[in-house]
Amino acid sequence: MNPISFVDLKAQAEILGKDIRQAMERVMSHGRFIMGPEVYELEQKLSDFTGAKHVVSCSSGTDALLMALMAIDIGPGDAVFTSPFTFVATAEVISLLGATPVFVDIRKDTFNIDPVRLAQTVEHIDKNHAGKGLTPKCIIPVDIFGLPAEYDVILEIADRFGLVVVEDAAQSLGGRIDDRMAGNLAHMGATSFFPAKPLGCYGDGGAVFTNDDHLQEKLASIRVHGKGQHKYDNVRTGINGRMDTLQAAVLIQKLKIFTDEIDKRREVAQKYKEHLDGKVLCQKVPESYESAWAQFSFLCQNRNRVISRLEKNHIPYGIYYPKPLHLQKAFSGLDYRTGDFPVAEMVSDAILSIPMHPYLSEEQVDFVIHTIVGGLT
Ligand SMILES: *Cc1c(COP(=O)(O)O)cnc(C)c1O
Repeated sequence: MNPISFVDLKAQAEILGKDIRQAMERVMSHGRFIMGPEVYELEQKLSDFTGAKHVVSCSSGTDALLMALMAIDIGPGDAVFTSPFTFVATAEVISLLGATPVFVDIRKDTFNIDPVRLAQTVEHIDKNHAGKGLTPKCIIPVDIFGLPAEYDVILEIADRFGLVVVEDAAQSLGGRIDDRMAGNLAHMGATSFFPAKPLGCYGDGGAVFTNDDHLQEKLASIRVHGKGQHKYDNVRTGINGRMDTLQAAVLIQKLKIFTDEIDKRREVAQKYKEHLDGKVLCQKVPESYESAWAQFSFLCQNRNRVISRLEKNHIPYGIYYPKPLHLQKAFSGLDYRTGDFPVAEMVSDAILSIPMHPYLSEEQVDFVIHTIVGGLT
């Protein structure tokens, strides 16, 4: 049996390596490294893939979130609601714009933001906003580990309070709810092409999705220093948020096999689930939801024992995330404390992610299952 990797980029390179090299060479010969034709081709292909009318590619998933918030003029005094159980970038961009992240606890079965608590928290801030100086503006649900959050309910809450919903789809491209694709589940969606994400490039990259013409225009302007008619006509404050043409060329090639890769991830997940659920608590995928399976994660009581068995058998694992954001030093100014979000805290203490990629052999999957089950008894 070959050594098991956590995310396997080598197996994919064997399938696509030649096509990717040729695609990169084409960019090197036309020489349009910034906003070259591949960038627009990729945007069109991602639009076809997600069903989103507009795709604005950009420099990273973090910049995608930042640009989305800038496009709706988020700033000081604004409350942006999000999950404390996510990668730091989700809340970082809120603080960066001078707005206030307001965390809402997660569900213990899906690990995604809890819509019931979300409604309560938004209502609370809305009622008290005169006193606290905070105005509810936006919700950033995170599709954690590739599983979409509950957008039907979340969009209803947003409607009621006049909020914009930005989907953090950094992990969920390829996932869906019924026939609605992740990235296109809210007013805007932000995704990442960091190499270890389900659709990764060979560096940093990201994209914003929207069906709104006005937002698309604004996003495209923000991406290039707030340009107006041209680069030297500056109508707003923007950033340098462009995606490299080389990365777009890589992604165009990878997109060709992406649906097939997602199917393969699903097969691995099904097998894991079949043998592990009940013994550990696997992330629940609600009816009519499909995860992109960026990670396969579960809760287990005796995590350390399972980890030591994985280590002994040279099986890589991950803990995403060992500390929820409300307890991170970076957000200490928000005055949260231990006990504020008990579910996120419990999940952080018990979560474990095991190898997940499309190129795991049956033998490897069996070996991982066998190793974990042995550590539980
Ligand atoms: C990876 C990730 C990001 C940031 O993406 P980058 O491309 O690394 O900037 C944002 N949110 C979540 C949930 C992520 O997993």
